Amino acid sequence: MAVPKRRTSTTRKNKRRTHFKLAVPGMVKCDNCGEYKLAHRVCPNCGSYKGETVVEK
Ligand SMILES: [Zn+2]
Repeated sequence: MAVPKRRTSTTRKNKRRTHFKLAVPGMVKCDNCGEYKLAHRVCPNCGSYKGETVVEK
């Protein structure tokens, strides 16, 4: 089995991990109330979708 010749330095390890980022889900502002919501989904705050109230509170 192949074995690394040298151990990976902290600097090299951290440089490699600069590409590790948290993925932000597709958040958009609600047309109705301005709250952030997931795109293509009914707003959990006001229950509207495409300018119409779909879910009544
Ligand atoms: Zn809303």
